[in-house]
Amino acid sequence: MANQSRRDFMRTGVLGLAALPLGAGILSQTAFAQTLPRLDPSSSNAKALNYVKKASDASDHPAFADGEHCDNCMFYTADNEGCQLFPQNSVEPKGWCQSWTSDS
Ligand code: SF4
Repeated sequence: MANQSRRDFMRTGVLGLAALPLGAGILSQTAFAQTLPRLDPSSSNAKALNYVKKASDASDHPAFADGEHCDNCMFYTADNEGCQLFPQNSVEPKGWCQSWTSDS
């Protein structure tokens, strides 16, 4: 009986150790996601969607309406200030682009 418990303990320990790299990988991905570089409005992909850092700067755009900004857009991810349309970057929460879509 004592051998059985010891075997179970050892198996659990080995499985736990095997899972460590996976956990570390997830943590590093999370850390990476939180440090995405800000989207540069002068980059070609940002220009393609008329992205601006301050939504009010888009007031002359025909698609813009007051109250629209990244942090109430369905493509925005609050935990890393990311945008699904610009997966390599984070965006300004009060920014805007012509693909803005209501999150409600
Ligand atoms: S799609 Fe939405 S979250 Fe992304 S840049 Fe445009 S307005 Fe901001």
